[in-house]
Formats: sequence, structure tokens, C-alpha cells
Amino acid sequence: MRVCVVGAGALGGWTALHLLRRGCEVTLCDRWGPANSRATSGDETRVIRGTYGPNGVYTRMVARAIPMWKDAEARYGQKLLQDVGALWMACEADDSYERASEEHLRAAGLGYERLSRTQLEQLYPGVNFAGIGWALFEPSLGYLMARRCCQAVVQAFTEEGGRYVERDGSEPDASIVVHARGPWLEQVTATRQDAFYFGVPARSWKFPAWVDNSAPRFYGIPFNEGRGFKAAKDVPGVEFDPTGGDRTPSSEALDEARRYIAFRFPVLAGAPLLESRVCQYEMSADGHLIIDRVSGSTDEWVAGGGSGHSFKIAPVIGEIVAKAVLGEEAPPSEFSLARFGTGPVVRRWQRA
Ligand SMILES: Cc1cc2nc3c(=O)[nH]c(=O)nc-3n(C[C@H](O)[C@H](O)[C@H](O)COP(=O)(O)OP(=O)(O)OC[C@H]3O[C@@H](n4cnc5c(N)ncnc54)[C@H](O)[C@@H]3O)c2cc1C
Repeated sequence: MRVCVVGAGALGGWTALHLLRRGCEVTLCDRWGPANSRATSGDETRVIRGTYGPNGVYTRMVARAIPMWKDAEARYGQKLLQDVGALWMACEADDSYERASEEHLRAAGLGYERLSRTQLEQLYPGVNFAGIGWALFEPSLGYLMARRCCQAVVQAFTEEGGRYVERDGSEPDASIVVHARGPWLEQVTATRQDAFYFGVPARSWKFPAWVDNSAPRFYGIPFNEGRGFKAAKDVPGVEFDPTGGDRTPSSEALDEARRYIAFRFPVLAGAPLLESRVCQYEMSADGHLIIDRVSGSTDEWVAGGGSGHSFKIAPVIGEIVAKAVLGEEAPPSEFSLARFGTGPVVRRWQRA
């Protein structure tokens, strides 16, 4: 079977690799290259954690993705998963998300520790845990080297016999087409996300990859390769044009990040800004993935709607798409386009 996968981000790259390994003749094409700076996968790092609240489907996907990332590391001799630990901080006022996560973490066999506020304060001096009740800590997870991951996958794809071309994929030449065009998909809304990287006082100051689930939700990654302490707000921003949008960081978002950092990480108050980045989430209408045939088509598929959380599970998404395309197994119904019924597939997101 001849398949063209359009888009060589995390989702398209892994989809192409899985289809190739299942015997398809695959062309992977991208307008600007794997993990280019316009792409949603085009950053240095992405958090990987199994904590996912009441929806066990994603925790199971994370558990399946980990050996795939490790296998990629071993095959290509590159460190892709930095196991600095992943810390999910529960809001004191409402910890229902975290309590629901525990059952799924246990069922998926993902190791975690429950850290009390007192333990957190002992482990991480210089951090203010006001408003945090407790935390889930996953010691073997942390973050993925995002850009490096995407490039390694495309390299593997070509070395194993796949054809990669750098061009627009609007007129693909294949019997089956998989659209993995990230924020350029018609079924999603791209939203502007500002991320900031602050200088840390000393390299010896240790903190894991983290999510602070109090309002507003922030998350970050500690000084990857000396590039600063990442802090970003995890709330969909205003609509954004991924092709021509202005990626100058907004002073309003920087002020908010500085205020947040000064409150939660007093040790970093007044820290210099080393780098910044404007990216975009590719939001589906309900924040869940879309893996389905394009409505009304028999030979076109869509794989996307990662909605700001799906880099970590890209190897599994690729596997699900490959099985669906080859008729081996239907994708989970919660990822279908049918769930939107006759209502709009795309919802307009605004910064909360
Ligand atoms: C700031 C930010 C932080 C995030 N943090 C996390 C995190 O911590 N953990 C996590 O798991 N996920 C995270 N995510 C989400 C994750 O990065 C995305 O869900 C994932 O990278 C989406 O990958 P993709 O392949 O769908 O899209 P992309 O990476 O955008 O890939 C789409 C590709 O399609 C190409 N393309 C588009 N149109 C065409 C065309 N017509 N012809 C040819 N090529 C085309 C583009 O050039 C691009 O390379 C985050 C996202 C953002 C923005």
C-alpha cells in the first residue's frame, strides 16, 4: 500500500515509521522540516508524565510510549528521555484530578510517590508550596528532547527505507493520505502560547519537570542543557496563525510569568530571562486527540488535536493510526470525529 503522511512533527513522524515497519511504501513530507520552529513539536523539550486525571486512556498510552522512546534511544544512541522526575502539584482546594490519577498510574504499572506538603518543603527548599496540598512524583519520567526526538524519528524512517521530501503536501501522490499537519489542520484551533526560560542561581539547584495544578496552571522544565528554567502557562491563549503569526513574546505574558515565578519559586525571583519562545497549541474542541478518517472520505485520515499534551504519546498515536489505516484495529472511539456530532468541530479558545 502506498501512503503519504503530510507533516513530519511528532505525530506524522511516528505514524510514517509505524506504517513503514508494517510493510507500506511511505512518503513523509513536510513544508519546513521535522520540528521546524513554526511546528508545535518545534521546541527543545516536552514534559512526559503519566498523571492524567480520570481519563485512563492517556495514562495507558504513556505506559506504552515509554518503551518506544527507550527503544528509539537505544537504536539511535541519543539521550531522548531525561528522567529527572515529573512532579505534579495538587491544589489544596481541589485534588480530585490527582486522586483520580492514582488509580490509573497503579493500573498502568507506572511508578509514583505521593509527597506530602511537609516532604515537598524538605525536598525543595526555595520553593513556596502555598496552596499546594500534596504532589504526585514519577521518578522515572521527566522530559523528552523534543526537537531531537522528531529528527531521530525521521532519520530512522529514511534509514529504514522511507522516502522523506521537503515540500508542500497539498497534492499528495498516494492511494492513502494521513494528514498530520498539527496546528494547520482544519479540525483544530491554533492558540498562542508564550514560554519563558529564566536563569537559575546555580546548577546545583535541582527541581524536576513540574506541573502546578492550581490556578492559573503553570508548568515547566528545569534548566535543560543549561538553557534556563522553563515556565509557561498551561491555558489555551488567543487564536494564532502558525504560518505568519508574530512570535515576539508578549510583555503581558512575561509579567505574568515573572509574578508567578516570584510567588512559587522565590529562589528565582528577579532571575534574568535567558530565552523565550512563542508556540501554539493545536486545540481540538474538547482538548482530546482526533484520529479518524476525514469526514466523507475513504482514503484520507487525520491525526492531530494533541491540544498541548500529546508529544509524549506520539509513538503510540503513530501506532494507532497505522493500525487504523491498515484495517487492523479501529482507533479508540473517544478520538473519533463523530463525537462532535453535528456541532462545530472547532471551538474558539480564549485566554482564561
Ligand atoms: C508550548 C507548548 C508546550 C507543550 N508542552 C507539552 C508537554 O510538555 N508534553 C507533551 O506531551 N506535549 C506538549 N505539547 C503538545 C505537543 O508538543 C503537540 O501536541 C505535538 O508536538 C503536536 O505534534 P504534531 O505532529 O501534531 O504537530 P507539528 O509538530 O506542528 O507538526 C505538523 C507538521 O506539519 C507540517 N505541515 C503543515 N502543513 C503542511 C503542508 N501543507 N505540507 C507539508 N507539511 C505541512 C509542519 O511544517 C509541521 O512540521 C506542548 C505544545 C506547546 C505548543
